[in-house]
Amino acid sequence: MSAQAIDLRSDTVSKPTVAMREAMARAAVGDDCYGDDPSVNELERRVAQLLGKPAALFVPSGTMANQLAVATHTRPGDALACMVEAHVQVHEDASPARLSGVQAMEIGDRHGFSAADLDERISEERWGWPRVGLVWLENTLGLAGGRVWPLAQMQAIAELARTHARPLHLDGARLWNAHVASGCSMAELASVADSVSVCLSKGLGCPVGSLLCGELEFVARARASRHAFGGALRQAGILAAAGLHALDHHVERLRDDHRRARRLWQGLSDLSCWRAIEPETNIALFELPDRGDADLLCAPLREAGVLCYPNKYAEIRLVVHLGVDDNAIEQAIEWIRSVLG
Ligand SMILES: *Cc1c(COP(=O)(O)O)cnc(C)c1O
Repeated sequence: MSAQAIDLRSDTVSKPTVAMREAMARAAVGDDCYGDDPSVNELERRVAQLLGKPAALFVPSGTMANQLAVATHTRPGDALACMVEAHVQVHEDASPARLSGVQAMEIGDRHGFSAADLDERISEERWGWPRVGLVWLENTLGLAGGRVWPLAQMQAIAELARTHARPLHLDGARLWNAHVASGCSMAELASVADSVSVCLSKGLGCPVGSLLCGELEFVARARASRHAFGGALRQAGILAAAGLHALDHHVERLRDDHRRARRLWQGLSDLSCWRAIEPETNIALFELPDRGDADLLCAPLREAGVLCYPNKYAEIRLVVHLGVDDNAIEQAIEWIRSVLG
């Protein structure tokens, strides 16, 4: 691996900028468990307002935000209805089952599901299928390569969920990317859900942190469970200050990541070893023909200085983030072409 490797494994690998570190160093802090941390309080207030929800809760990770939503909305024995390859189903280590006694059940496909898919699933309860205690959306759709879930379809799902009195959670780890790509406001995208989680440590470039947003009573209950889950922090304002900085400086720049992911797609789509899928946001996917083992391509790319991993068995993902500029993208294209061309 060369010294100046280009890291396209994930948007979580970005490092805090100098300006972000300075904001963290200056942060006003207090003990957040007593509600005393002014930076955490300000971040919770701003994110709640941005998402059009009455309250927000700062937590260490997106997984914890999601699992607090599961624990707060459901009862043991419930099912959670999510699309195929949802993060909550694939990348959260069975925590709905382990922490809340809740079974994740897939409907639709990796690009989402329709109100009709959900309606069918709820109808099956008549024949003894588990009760859907929580409906689950994800935007952007991570495993599907950061696709934006169309708002009209999410609105139809929300209406159906309301009709059946089922709560709806939106995993918005990359909702910022959906906002920038679609032009819809964060509040519009969040309006379909009773609760929403957003990550600060993906495209926004913070070292740590996510928020769970929703009604006052919901967030109060999640706050109590946050302590039980081990996520109550003390002078967390050091971390919240990074989030406040990112809200001001790192949202609009996601456009650059999206443009660069498109450039990767464009620069690599004629290679015969894969089928390049046109990206909508910051993730470019490359699908291998004949169910080929994607790591057989990733391993030599890593050797050549382009850090990447399979998205799934026969698929490679390249993820753009604030640590990757235009020059790095051109260099990555050149190195990838020289290994695989
Ligand atoms: C990253 C991510 C999360 C949360 O991940 P953490 O690593 O726990 O912060 C949740 N959902 C989606 C879709 C994600 O991409």
